[in-house]
This record gives sequence, C-alpha cells and structure tokens, in this order.
Amino acid sequence: MKPKCKICGYVHLPDHAETFVVGADGLCPMCHDLTAGNDNYDKPRTEYLARLQAMTDAELRDETEHMIWLSAYAANNPRSDYHWQCDLTYKIWMGRNKIDEYSRAHKAVMAQCGY
Ligand SMILES: [Zn+2]
Repeated sequence: MKPKCKICGYVHLPDHAETFVVGADGLCPMCHDLTAGNDNYDKPRTEYLARLQAMTDAELRDETEHMIWLSAYAANNPRSDYHWQCDLTYKIWMGRNKIDEYSRAHKAVMAQCGY
C-alpha cells in the first residue's frame, strides 16, 4: 500500500520528486502547509479543515463558491485566511474525487461577477 494523503487522496508515485511524499502526519506537503499552524485569529487551521470534512457535498459547494469569491476579493492581501481556505476546499474535493465540483463552483462565481 502506497501512503495516501488523508485530505486530497494524493498517492506518492515513484516517478514524482522525492520531496513530494506523504509525511508522518498522513498528509502530502501541500495539504500539510495548508493546515499547519493557526489562522489570523489564532485558531488552529485544522478547525476549518474539520468543518469542511463534516460538510455534505451541497454544503461544501456553497462554502467553495463563498471562498472563491472572498479569496478573489482579498487578492491584494496575501496574508488573508481566505486564500488557504479556498485552496483547502479544492483539496477536499480532490479527496472526494469530485474535482469537477470545484470547477463548477469557480464558473458559477465568475458568472455571478459578470465574466
Ligand atoms: Zn494532500
């Protein structure tokens, strides 16, 4: 059994760089970075992760659209929590094997903004 990321389901493949491996915490480096440490309100980022993981697909879809919008709105503030939170919704869809839902959410937000 290859180690698999607990969030996005990423499986370490032999032809990938050795730096891109699932670590001892069961996460790939990207998911590890997204959930390490605290948010700007000093709450552990894993709290938001747990909230996302508890959501139904419909709830996650709403949250994803919300985060895509907020992340775009906060484009001039790289330290905004919305950026990693938005990235994390993408990883959760990956883990659910429904990455199309993220693309649909993205299109829906763009349509609402008149693009
Ligand atoms: Zn991952």
